[in-house]
Amino acid sequence: MTLDEILEEMKIAKTIVILTHESPDGDAIGSSLALQLVLEKFGKEADVIIPEYSRLFSFLPGTDKIKKESNIKNYDLAISVDNADLKRLAQKEYFENATKTINIDHHGSNNMFADLNYVNPVSPACCETLAGIFEYFQIDITKEIGSCLMAGIITDTGGFRHSGITPETFEFTAELIRKGVNIQDIYKRTLRTKTKANFLLTKKVIDRMEILENGKITFTYITMQDEEEVQAEPGDHEGLVDIGRDIEGVEVSIFIRQNKEKTGYKISMRSGNYVNVSDICFMFGGGGHPRAAGAFIQGNIEQVKEKVLKEVKKSL
Ligand code: 5GP
Ligand code: MN
Repeated sequence: MTLDEILEEMKIAKTIVILTHESPDGDAIGSSLALQLVLEKFGKEADVIIPEYSRLFSFLPGTDKIKKESNIKNYDLAISVDNADLKRLAQKEYFENATKTINIDHHGSNNMFADLNYVNPVSPACCETLAGIFEYFQIDITKEIGSCLMAGIITDTGGFRHSGITPETFEFTAELIRKGVNIQDIYKRTLRTKTKANFLLTKKVIDRMEILENGKITFTYITMQDEEEVQAEPGDHEGLVDIGRDIEGVEVSIFIRQNKEKTGYKISMRSGNYVNVSDICFMFGGGGHPRAAGAFIQGNIEQVKEKVLKEVKKSL
């Protein structure tokens, strides 16, 4: 069983690094910090390396120990969490230079890039996958570990709203409430609190939103110049793609965001009921989940928009 092998590798490694995807969301950060706390229980001091993340998550236990880089170049063990593809892993050189590698994830599009891979595509959050793993390891979930896991579950399910939530999601949540995890506080900090820059970007995104194909598709964008204007920080674009998806009759919401180098756009897509946006993103070298996915496309707004719309229209 892969989980026994994973446990064995965690126990024998002297140096361990935990990594996650670029532009980390609540699930990426929550998974990394929860795993670090569990490894502490095995007497292991693992490094979590995340170069940049939204300050909205700095209330989570352990964020003060997050590193941007490390002096250790060749870790005994590198663990990737909530990441489907090695090319999207932030600071991936630590992974590539490690003696052993583990990949724990919940994306159906995961391409099994590690020595040991544990991917549960029916799990609504990597944090829920980890909760199952910790149960198998017979780890007592403390309030701190539970808070990290809950941050991932709440953000990746959009506050228990998305498809993919399971009876286990609620059972685990109930168990954590009994342990003293403050669900309401985590919910408020991660989903209801908006930075001012996020609010200003929301206004732009709504203003520019085009409703296409008889109201089935929405398209909107932000450029680097927009982000500079509002003094955006990491994570300030989170949630902008959801605005279009929530309009009545919309099946696919497309949001594109210019990259720092201004060579192209990061695409984010959400779908309502039937379009598999992960399949569409896969064609552009990306991936994700059937109802939430992403990819990167080179070119200017017009070029990127044309490429994406062509594929989305075919899938309606
Ligand atoms: P978001 O639109 O929130 O950035 O991402 C939606 C989902 O798609 C997330 O689960 C995210 O991990 C995944 N995703 C986003 N961009 C990419 C990408 O370029 N490649 C892959 N494989 N997955 C992506
Ligand atoms: Mn996730």
